[in-house]
Amino acid sequence: MIKTINHVVNGKPMAGASGRFGDVFNPATGEKSAQVALATAAEVDKAVAAAKAAFPDWSAAPPLRRARVMFKFRELVERHMDELAQIITAEHGKILSDAKGSVTRGLEVVEFACGIPQLLKGEFTEQVGTGIDSWSMRQPLGVCAGITPFNFPAMVPMWMFPVALACGNTFVLKPSERDPSCANRLAELLKEAGLPDGVFNVIHGDKAAVDAILHHPDVAAVSFVGSTPIAEYIYHTGCAHNKRVQALGGAKNHMVVMPDADLEQATDALIGAAYGSAGERCMAVSVAVAVGNVGDQLIKRLEPRVRALKVGPGTDPEAEMGPLVTRQHLDKVRGYIDHGVKEGAKLVVDGRGLKLQGYESGYFIGGCLFDDVRTDMKIYKEEIFGPVLSVVRAPDYKAAVGMVNDHEFGNGAAIFTRDGDAAREFANSIKIGMVGVNVPIPVPLAFHSFGGWKRSLFGDQHMHGPEGVRFYTKLKTVTSRWPAGIRAGAEFVMPTMR
Ligand code: NAD
Repeated sequence: MIKTINHVVNGKPMAGASGRFGDVFNPATGEKSAQVALATAAEVDKAVAAAKAAFPDWSAAPPLRRARVMFKFRELVERHMDELAQIITAEHGKILSDAKGSVTRGLEVVEFACGIPQLLKGEFTEQVGTGIDSWSMRQPLGVCAGITPFNFPAMVPMWMFPVALACGNTFVLKPSERDPSCANRLAELLKEAGLPDGVFNVIHGDKAAVDAILHHPDVAAVSFVGSTPIAEYIYHTGCAHNKRVQALGGAKNHMVVMPDADLEQATDALIGAAYGSAGERCMAVSVAVAVGNVGDQLIKRLEPRVRALKVGPGTDPEAEMGPLVTRQHLDKVRGYIDHGVKEGAKLVVDGRGLKLQGYESGYFIGGCLFDDVRTDMKIYKEEIFGPVLSVVRAPDYKAAVGMVNDHEFGNGAAIFTRDGDAAREFANSIKIGMVGVNVPIPVPLAFHSFGGWKRSLFGDQHMHGPEGVRFYTKLKTVTSRWPAGIRAGAEFVMPTMR
């Protein structure tokens, strides 16, 4: 009997009633490992109703009490780190050490949320007028929803719910149907940490579940992370239904390598950032912009390193790169490589032929390296989301910056240089949300906020950190006078302070 992954509503598993299921695979072997329930609008409604019912008590709990649940949850995630990593690797495919690293990045947001009593402290002004005081406070929104991608089944939900819950909201998570088990385990750990039933719910599903969330009148806010076309759809549909929406989309992150860069350091950075997690990271570097005469030297260094990449199942401690997530995604990535060759890019390393003994049905592909990629090529313009690095040549710094700024995506970008002036100018002027100086994947820590520009983010607030607190709360300002203060009688003009 194949395992069925159910929803989690009101602290309990809820069997899917739609009769529709999605298949879940082990990407290393290609075997079907489970089926996941795909929710109907009625099932989404049950989860939202549970979250709505839990909101009055949870939002009224002192922030300190909510923080204590987060402290306990933090301890439990740490204790179950290996188990969570195994769950991720079994359905996503990434290597165990990388899966653990991603859980740790999520844990950092929990640690940030533990400080919620401090973060929710408002502002107070004594005597805004004679005998009148005024203060501002941030209050929770109500039921918030998170819709998340396959590539970080623990970390991306953990960008959202620790902050949302600590702020006093209740939550419905709709994780990716490709690797849904991790969300259920996180729900169990939250319950064990003392989170009251109904405060955190998991609904599995596809477009039908997402649409039910977007149309639901009791959902106050939606956080989304995924591909750009879906992010744009989520933003427009959610806003049209009067929800607060933050929708993070796809990326094409450039790393500009200046002629004065330390090429050993730049090569190491590119290998890790382009091929780590098989390129299935929204902050993966997929374009290296070689400035001036640095291109040939860079290719010379990269080529043997890409050929030597150790590809294997995520459970192999020797492996540096696991399989891709699904057969369809593998076909899509292969299709991009075929297209790049047809368009005239030079395929220096071709990973398409990789075969692993004992894993012939797994979704493996070796690292691929393109040189002489031009900005009008499909492989340059679109997100591939696989272990494929494109090297583009730029005559000078100005041309390199022009490429980064003209690209439709604006998630991350990095510059590798020893020149402080160039680095400062790059950081200040580049049209990108997250910038690295000699740091290839500049993912902000949990106490800063994560988000891109241009078509990598729809909405106004980035995720977690201070922007996360702002996203999950609304501002209220109180102006207060007690009877002993000045009595002016009825006032018919615009009040001004005396
Ligand atoms: P995806 O857009 O296919 O799916 C994301 C979520 O949307 C899933 O929960 C999925 O069930 C749902 N969804 C899919 N199709 C839908 C539809 N037609 N209508 C409504 N909902 C739908 O993304 P993915 O393939 O799971 O993840 C990879 C993408 O996510 C990449 O583009 C990557 O760059 C992006 N990503 C971005 C960030 C970021 O911070 N900007 C982080 C991680 C991943």
